Amino acid sequence: STQIQLVARPHGWPEPSDFRTVSVEYGDLEPGQVRVENEFLSVDPYMRGRMRDEKSYVPPFVLGETMTGGAIGRVVESASDDLPEGTVVLHQYGWRDVVQEDASGFKAVPEVPGLPLSLYLGMLGMTGLTAYAGLTRIARLEEGDTVFVSGAAGAVGTAVGQIAKLLGAGRVIGSAGSDEKVELLTSKYGYDAAFNYKNGPVREQLAAAAPDGIDVYFDNVGGDHLEAALDAFNDGGRAALCGAISVYNSTGTEPGPDNMVQLIKKSLTLEGFTVGSHLNLAGEFQELMTGWFSEGKVAYDETVVDGLENTLDAFLDMMRGANIGKMIVRTSTP
Ligand code: NDP
Repeated sequence: STQIQLVARPHGWPEPSDFRTVSVEYGDLEPGQVRVENEFLSVDPYMRGRMRDEKSYVPPFVLGETMTGGAIGRVVESASDDLPEGTVVLHQYGWRDVVQEDASGFKAVPEVPGLPLSLYLGMLGMTGLTAYAGLTRIARLEEGDTVFVSGAAGAVGTAVGQIAKLLGAGRVIGSAGSDEKVELLTSKYGYDAAFNYKNGPVREQLAAAAPDGIDVYFDNVGGDHLEAALDAFNDGGRAALCGAISVYNSTGTEPGPDNMVQLIKKSLTLEGFTVGSHLNLAGEFQELMTGWFSEGKVAYDETVVDGLENTLDAFLDMMRGANIGKMIVRTSTP
C-alpha cells in the first residue's frame, strides 16, 4: 500500500517537505479484517487545522503516521461476514491506495445507480450534512428568508444554496472567487445573485446584492465576509459559522470584525458548529437528499484529480480555490 504521511507541522502554506510517501506491506488477513481498495479520497479545509499541534474538535494529525480523512473504496478481500468482497465502504483511513483493518472501521454504503461513489464524500455525505445542519439547526432557516452564503461555489456552498431554496428560502446570494464560479452560481445552482469577492469590497458588493438586507448568513470564509454580513443583517438575523478559510494558513492573528456592535443593535445570533455534533441528522438528511437527487432537483460539480501522488496538490489547489464543488482525488485507475 502506498501512503502519505505528515512528517512536519507546516508554518503558513504546507510544503511538499512536510509530507512523505511510504510503502506499507500488509500481511495475510486476520479474522475479522478486510482489505479495501480506495477509489476516491477527500481533501478538506479542516485538514489544515489538524496539521497544527493544537487542541481542537478533532485531534491533530500524528507526525509520522498516515494522513487520516474521508475515503471510499471497495472490499477486495474479506475475512469478515459483515463486509463481503465487493462491498462499497466509507471510512476515515485517508491518504492511501489500499487499507487493511478490522471490518468495524468501515461503513457499508449502497451504490446509487447513476451517481458516482465520490458523492458520498460530498453532496451525499458530510459536506451535504454540514450544509443541512447549519441551515436548519444553527441558522434556523425560515421560509422566505434572504440567505447569504460565502464560499458558495465550493463543496459545502453549492449544497447550502440549493438546500436553502428547497427548504423555502426567498432570495439566495452567494460569493465566490472567480467570475466563472459566480456565473455558475446563478445559472446552475439557483442563486438569485452572486458576486466575485475579488472584484471589490465585500461590504459594497453584498449591500448591492441584498438591498433589503439578509436574514441568514452561512459563513465559510470569516474575515471581511463576516463583517459585511453583520452590516447587511436585518433585525434578528442568524449566522451559522461553519468555517473561516480566509485565515487557515495565516501565521499570525487576524483582526476581528470592526462592527460587532451590530449584534446588539439588531439582536443578531452568531453560532458556530461542527458537523460532528449533528450526526444524529444523518438519516433524515440522507432521505431528503437522495429524494431530491432522484427527482433531479440537485446539481453538483466535482473537481477530480487523478492519482494518490497528487493528493497534496489537490489539497493545496482546493485551499486556493481551484475547485468547483467538491475537490476529490481518484486513486483507482479510471
Ligand atoms: P470548498 O470546496 O469550499 O473549498 C474551499 C474554497 O474556499 C475554495 O474553493 C475557495 O473558493 C475558498 N477560499 C479559499 N481562500 C479563500 C479566501 N481567502 N476568501 C474566501 N474564500 C476562500 O471547501 P469545503 O466546502 O469543504 O469547506 C468550506 C468551508 O466549510 C471551510 O471553511 C471548511 O472549513 C468548512 N467546513 C466546516 C465543517 C463544520 O463541521 N463546521 C464541515 C465541512 C466544512 P474561492 O474561489 O471562492 O475563493
